[in-house]
Amino acid sequence: LVRIAIKSRQLPYSCPIFAGYFPGILEKIYCSIITIGDELLIGQTLDTNSAWMARELNRKGIPLRRRVAVGDEPDAITAALDEERRYSDVLLLTGGLGPTSDDITKEVLCKYFGTRLIVNEGLRQKLIRLFESRGLPLLESNLQQAEVPESCIIIPNEQGTAPGMWFERDGKVFVSMPGVPLEMEAMMTSVVLPRLTERFHTPEIIHRTLITSGMGESFVAKRLEDFEKQLPDAVRLAYLPSYGYLKLRLTGFSGGDISMKELVSHHFSMLEQQLGDILVASEDISISAVAGKLLAENRRTLAVAESCTGGCIANMLTQVPGSSAYFKGAIVAYDNEVKFKVLGVDRSMVMARGVVSEETVKQMAAGARELLQTDYALASSGIMGPGGASEQKPVGTTWIAIADGQELITRKFQFRFNREHNIRSASIQAILLLIERMRHPAESSNRK
Ligand code: ATP
Ligand code: MG
Repeated sequence: LVRIAIKSRQLPYSCPIFAGYFPGILEKIYCSIITIGDELLIGQTLDTNSAWMARELNRKGIPLRRRVAVGDEPDAITAALDEERRYSDVLLLTGGLGPTSDDITKEVLCKYFGTRLIVNEGLRQKLIRLFESRGLPLLESNLQQAEVPESCIIIPNEQGTAPGMWFERDGKVFVSMPGVPLEMEAMMTSVVLPRLTERFHTPEIIHRTLITSGMGESFVAKRLEDFEKQLPDAVRLAYLPSYGYLKLRLTGFSGGDISMKELVSHHFSMLEQQLGDILVASEDISISAVAGKLLAENRRTLAVAESCTGGCIANMLTQVPGSSAYFKGAIVAYDNEVKFKVLGVDRSMVMARGVVSEETVKQMAAGARELLQTDYALASSGIMGPGGASEQKPVGTTWIAIADGQELITRKFQFRFNREHNIRSASIQAILLLIERMRHPAESSNRK
């Protein structure tokens, strides 16, 4: 009976008694995201809020049903609310809460829920204190941010001035948050997601991700044919290819107990075994973080000599917190004179073989290693396009080298993307070469 009642939604299944007695009964709820702002419709701002929210909601077992973007226009916002509530139990809105006249979400919501704006004294005091501490005059438009719809629950904004608002009507939840990504993310993490998982008894989604390199997606899929066949229905495998590497994700829906966690772990170990020779990492981290971990664990240091990548390798490596422990620095030897004078590359060799050549990257890597006194050094030289090609060296021709004091290993690549993607691919391949050299020092050799 309880099951039927719960299915037909006549009982408050968020009630802790039910959640406790029937841990297997989980609620399937759906969500819609409405992002608001003219800037989203003219392509001036990329809607990263939706992607971020979609990822976090999925992790919590709240699948996203629809995403829609609308302009700063009352009728459009109202129409979107009417439309999305037909599909979803939870409607998340971002944008249009600022103090300027184009920000109208609050007024629209007030009208939509038939309520009125009232001054929230706590918010007003907070605004006054904030502006005082910053030594700024408090304008009337700023003070308006202390006005909130009477019927909503206020979500505090720890990162900014506009509060978030939580409304409920006919069992559906409507949450309005600021458009500024950092402000929205803080509200989602500290208030909205915990409240949603408490309010609706949702399943937890368990993800485990690993990273491989050196084998194309279709070859990996062929190797995993038998593995995929024996996977239980509740566990799914996803392929996420990127430049130079491939991520594989196993996903399982947990019924609130630990068995699904164990089941996913069990299959994840099988996957790791099957892909041992091409495995780069058993967690969802960046390639630079993988390299950083290996360098830190082995107490090794790294320098970089970059021509065609123009500092991108160094940039990627220093995105990782704590990289100063192993990354010494980079020489962006873009002009040949820098290669000759700073890195000691042989001028006559470059004249004879060209700057995009195996010998050049070898000498660059050796020069950087010597100059910065590191265990490893990477080097890059290539033609990133759109210009600069010759018959023998088309756009995308790229040489990468690594020096480690014993050997100079090189790789040649032929990238076929635009300039931006060629640079990124070359940088990733350089970092992958470092990872390979550290993981399998005996096996890595020159490959063209
Ligand atoms: P605030 O109170 O801080 O002004 P707001 O709710 O008024 O916030 P908007 O004025 O709509 O937010 O947008 C603030 C900033 O956030 C803008 O720079 C905008 O480009 C950015 N932004 C808005 N919506 C999104 C989105 N969906 N994805 C990424 N960035 C966004
Ligand atoms: Mg706006």
